[in-house]
Amino acid sequence: SGNEIRADVVVLGGGPGGYTAAFRAADLGKKVVLIERYAALGGVCLNVGCIPSKALLHVAKVISEAEEMGAHGVKFAKPKVDIDEVRGWKESVVNRLTGGLMQLAKQRNVQVIQGRGQFVAPHHIKVETEQGEVSVSFDNAIVAAGSQAVKIPSFPVDPRVMDSTGALALADVPKKMLVIGGGIIGLEMATVYHALGSKITVVELGEQLIPGCDKDIVKPLHKKIEKHYEIFLNTKVAGLEARKDGIVASFEGENAPAPQSFDRVLVAVGRRPNGKLIGAENAGILVNEQGFIPVDKQQRTNVPHIFAIGDIVGQPMLAHKAVHEAKVAAEVIAGHKAAFDARTIPSVAYTDPEVAWMGLTETEAKAQGIDYEKASFPWAASGRALSINADYGVTKLLLEKDTRRVLGAGIVGPNAGELIAEAVLALEMGADAQDLGLTIHPHPTLSETLCFAAEMAEGTITDMF
Ligand code: FAD
Repeated sequence: SGNEIRADVVVLGGGPGGYTAAFRAADLGKKVVLIERYAALGGVCLNVGCIPSKALLHVAKVISEAEEMGAHGVKFAKPKVDIDEVRGWKESVVNRLTGGLMQLAKQRNVQVIQGRGQFVAPHHIKVETEQGEVSVSFDNAIVAAGSQAVKIPSFPVDPRVMDSTGALALADVPKKMLVIGGGIIGLEMATVYHALGSKITVVELGEQLIPGCDKDIVKPLHKKIEKHYEIFLNTKVAGLEARKDGIVASFEGENAPAPQSFDRVLVAVGRRPNGKLIGAENAGILVNEQGFIPVDKQQRTNVPHIFAIGDIVGQPMLAHKAVHEAKVAAEVIAGHKAAFDARTIPSVAYTDPEVAWMGLTETEAKAQGIDYEKASFPWAASGRALSINADYGVTKLLLEKDTRRVLGAGIVGPNAGELIAEAVLALEMGADAQDLGLTIHPHPTLSETLCFAAEMAEGTITDMF
């Protein structure tokens, strides 16, 4: 009947993990049903994550670069920001991509059902759609239900207290904005709002911005943004109080500022998985206390015919991890001998400047007692870096002592996110410092900084700008 559907593979959640798994499974000959509660596919990443944030960060970059050129002989007038047009542009980028996904689903005969899905039995998912309840039976399921922003229950419910989705909605440009959490998402949104004209205060509980990245790589970012923002490390927001004329925040910590009022507050203190919201218990799927679904290298849950991928299976919660896991799950279901076997998953903060790292960090190497060698190339010695006003950048390589193979890399500076990919390839291929140093990089580019760092380690560097 109309509300009974059978599928070889059902995918729960239409984010980067879910649509990739659905498309790959369909390409491998499976009859696939993709369940997504929202009208648009793409999940957090396309709708309220990676893509809209990068569109707005592009706006921020154009504004700040124009401003920086003022000191070098090109003076622009103060930019006039039409917030409705900026928002419209961001939305057009998102809509192009999500619209494209619907086309791609159709081309592959992937049946998309819009509604909230819940497991009701090991081989059944019930979907609440606008037309009523639909029951989907399946041979295999792939759970890709993602994550959501962590809320702090004691904070007031008020439109001025936002999560990243609220911040990306770009309702207005607040005069004073408090960003709680100095991680990637908080700092990216701070970059956007600062460029649009907000006065930014960042409060971070830990002892450095972007915890997880080496301190020496974060430092040039910190030094640059502290000229514009107020930054408080080792500081906690003790409370928020919604008043008519603003949100009053109070702080705790040795260097904590006095209580003060903000026009908007962004809470960016992390994300939690949606594992407890999908009726997992009805299918016997194990969900841990935090809401993550444990899986093996083939993305298989404790229930052999059910797989899970993306943010819901664990850290790092990144789109490129979800997409790779998705392909593994679909291929294993199709009988291939696939496994998730990445040596590293790179991380990027698209701040100004960008920060990127991959493989082992120095902090981890020290904690694990790993014998490593380090080469840090200062961008002040790169002709290309100087010509784009980025002498503060750093490219750092960590090498294994005996083999001189690449163990890790950290980069700070414009385009660090693009540059880190070469280091990821080096790690995956088992390249050593000599491989990087003897590979001819185009001159003058920032990509040379990886080659120069390798040459520093090899003792073969000459002064070549
Ligand atoms: P999601 O994208 O969360 O998708 C899950 C989908 O499942 C959602 O569409 C949801 O509606 C649906 N769903 C959940 N439960 C149900 C249900 N019961 N029934 C039906 N549908 C359901 N990552 C990067 O790699 N690079 C970045 O630059 C980046 N920037 C980010 C910026 C922000 C502001 C945020 C918040 C995140 C960012 N991320 C970034 C993280 C990235 O968005 C996630 O890692 C990625 O979206 C995870 O994909 P996923 O498929 O696991 O889950």
